[in-house]
Amino acid sequence: MDIRLGDIVRMKKPHPCGSYEWTIERVGMDFKLRCIGCGHQVMLPRRQAEKNIREVRREEGAAPAEAATENN
Ligand SMILES: [Zn+2]
Repeated sequence: MDIRLGDIVRMKKPHPCGSYEWTIERVGMDFKLRCIGCGHQVMLPRRQAEKNIREVRREEGAAPAEAATENN
């Protein structure tokens, strides 16, 4: 699954606040996600995050190329 910094992902299950959408704040071994509904941040292992993601939406120009290749 191609997920990049700045992407908005739609999860299969809603956060307790009711929002299905999260922004990607960090990619690498773990993903850092921020809930769009309430601002809550979580770290998830890549595999688990990918399992929970239903859809990726990329906003044009949201993710600079150099950020997408950032390597932690
Ligand atoms: Zn939330």
